[in-house]
Amino acid sequence: MDPNKVIDGKAFAAGLTQRIGDAVAEFTAAGHPQPGLAVVLVGEDPASQVYVRNKIRTTTEAGMRSIEYKLDVSTSQDELMALIEKLNQDDEVDGILVQLPLPKQIDGDAVINAIDPEKDVDGFHVINVGRLSIGLDSLIPCTPYGCIMLLEDHFGDLSGKSAVVVGRSNIVGKPMAQLLLSRNCTVTVAHSRTANLQDVCRQADIVVAAVGRPEMIDGDWIKEGAVVIDVGINRVPAPERGEGKFRLTGDVDYESAGAKASAITPVPGGVGPMTIACLLRNTMVAAARRRGVEVPSSIG
Ligand code: NDP
Repeated sequence: MDPNKVIDGKAFAAGLTQRIGDAVAEFTAAGHPQPGLAVVLVGEDPASQVYVRNKIRTTTEAGMRSIEYKLDVSTSQDELMALIEKLNQDDEVDGILVQLPLPKQIDGDAVINAIDPEKDVDGFHVINVGRLSIGLDSLIPCTPYGCIMLLEDHFGDLSGKSAVVVGRSNIVGKPMAQLLLSRNCTVTVAHSRTANLQDVCRQADIVVAAVGRPEMIDGDWIKEGAVVIDVGINRVPAPERGEGKFRLTGDVDYESAGAKASAITPVPGGVGPMTIACLLRNTMVAAARRRGVEVPSSIG
């Protein structure tokens, strides 16, 4: 892969995290309390435990307070709702993140919508979803916001570009489409029922892949010179690394798509690091808004 084509999300995220750390230092130096993020983990899903550990580490590194709640897998809906209510009332908590997925006995939508929208740093509350869709200030889901930051860093103005988002989930595909639309792209949202998906992708200046199918989109799907953002994180067997070993791969075939694209995000090291950096960004934004302080432009 030509290194000039690689969109280095890891480096961008490191710079953003540094700027967030500076914003936190300025905020606390002005006499405001240290921004606080409460992370709630229910059960012992191994992937969720890794995500939560990483989130807590980076939050602390950026100078914020991280408060972790580890609840038993048998936690009831009422118990979880009571915790959310307590965190909503706690003035020292600026952001609340409930790690998904939740155990079966819990109604995830009800829990997310019980979070104070001003503290909803995942941006999943219906109020934030609605505000994003009508163009009002909101807390924006971290993964799509990370993608838009990378795209704007690459292109500058996105106006007039044609964009195809493959995937229509509430956490990635739909908010991604809203963000691209807000930047004046002409947006197509594709999904499992889309006819002639390859042809649809081949028209696009920007392809965002958020499907969850390893290396589904290859070079034949990509227009010469398009920009490819690969959100997918898939764990696939890697016998070449030894028995029982795995490797991470995206929803895009990196080599063949990269040969056609003018720029592409790698997996790992592309969108993934941006997601955590944007969580920190949202926590700082929530803290600033709650205290009536202007959000520093350096953090987007
Ligand atoms: P979901 O499973 O919720 O959604 C997948 C979407 O892809 C659906 O809209 C589905 O369509 C569509 N789809 C599935 N198969 C096809 C197909 N063959 N052709 C076209 N569309 C298809 O996934 P998420 O949005 O949560 O995640 C997508 C990927 O992004 C995953 O790999 C996930 O691990 C990764 N991810 C990465 C993050 C990061 O930080 N980098 C954060 C979040 C997710 P339909 O609606 O019709 O079923």
